Amino acid sequence: MAGASPIQVENVSYFYGKGNLRKQILFDVSTEIAAGEIIILTGPSGSGKTTLLTLIGALRSCQEGVVRVLEQDLSAVSESALVKVRRRIGYIFQQHNLLASLSVAQNIQMALELCGERSRKGWNERIETVLSHVGMADHMYKMPDQLSGGQKQRIGIARALVHHPSIILADEPTASLDKHSGRDVVELIQRLAKEEGAAVVLVTHDNRILDIADRILHLEDGRIKNLMDAVGDDAGRLLNIMARFEPDTYTELAAFALALTRVASADQHINEEENIAIRRILHEVSGLSEGEAELVMHLSHSMLGIHGATQEPVIHEPGSEGYQRQQQLLESLHAVAAADGQVSPDEVAEIDRIAAELGITTRPTKALKNE
Ligand code: ADP
Ligand code: MG
Repeated sequence: MAGASPIQVENVSYFYGKGNLRKQILFDVSTEIAAGEIIILTGPSGSGKTTLLTLIGALRSCQEGVVRVLEQDLSAVSESALVKVRRRIGYIFQQHNLLASLSVAQNIQMALELCGERSRKGWNERIETVLSHVGMADHMYKMPDQLSGGQKQRIGIARALVHHPSIILADEPTASLDKHSGRDVVELIQRLAKEEGAAVVLVTHDNRILDIADRILHLEDGRIKNLMDAVGDDAGRLLNIMARFEPDTYTELAAFALALTRVASADQHINEEENIAIRRILHEVSGLSEGEAELVMHLSHSMLGIHGATQEPVIHEPGSEGYQRQQQLLESLHAVAAADGQVSPDEVAEIDRIAAELGITTRPTKALKNE
């Protein structure tokens, strides 16, 4: 029993409307979300994210397929069992939905009341604790209209978490926030979720927070789509834009990604260790987020076929920034080649070819320094 995932979605389809107006919104969606796992649900507006979230949240009844939440098949249980399931879920909405006539503490207290807890013992302490978790301990007796958007959203989170839910469902929690408070809010959800071992489904189309996810589910036209395909579509578009407006960045990024991939595939195939190494290097060396690293990798895979169409080599002076970057690239190439535990002659040859094409000296930085 302990092993069952708190959220199981099996072959779920969903329709809005009746008769001629009946329209399919979700198509055969399946996924399973483990305790302590943070899933980000992305996809364009209208792709069915909120619909899926409300099905998981027992706020909408399932029509086709099975939604099993906290070991209850939602379409097979009584209304009172549904209420019990809902009480173990923390909902965070785009609009914080705080009641304006109640103080911060009262708004949170209401969540405890709705949970049907009989004893009020310890409530004040729990409210204080959860408010300090969201950094709002000093605002306990304020009214919602005395708070900023980011602060209200934090109260919304405190309210969703005060009863220690097993599942947290958040629908675009950062949509009304600026970049900085948006990041804070999701990191907070992430930290609390990990501490409590809750399963989290967070809907967003904010690409800047994708890296907090353990897994990304991408919905498009009501279907779960492979992230790589989705990223690939985006990559094509983004690269066209980048090539037009930021040709230098584009060239550098493309050369870097292509080079990494060419080394990794010099021995005719890229294995998983090499992929992991490339991703890590892109992440560490270029400061790309994991999502961006995925994108660059997809790009480089698709560029592998386009040999010969490379740009003019740029010769950098030793000691210059460009030179250091090239040396770093070289080191990265060796690291990727060594990722699977052995550097093959094919891989070394490929590194040398790439270096020559890019006008990079293949002597390692250290050796140069000792001369
Ligand atoms: P998302 O959250 O990804 O933007 P939604 O799940 O809200 O997508 O909506 C998916 C599709 O279902 C959209 O085309 C939307 O217009 C439609 N839709 C959403 N809610 C309703 C409803 N109550 N009645 C009819 N159509 C709806
Ligand atoms: Mg939505």
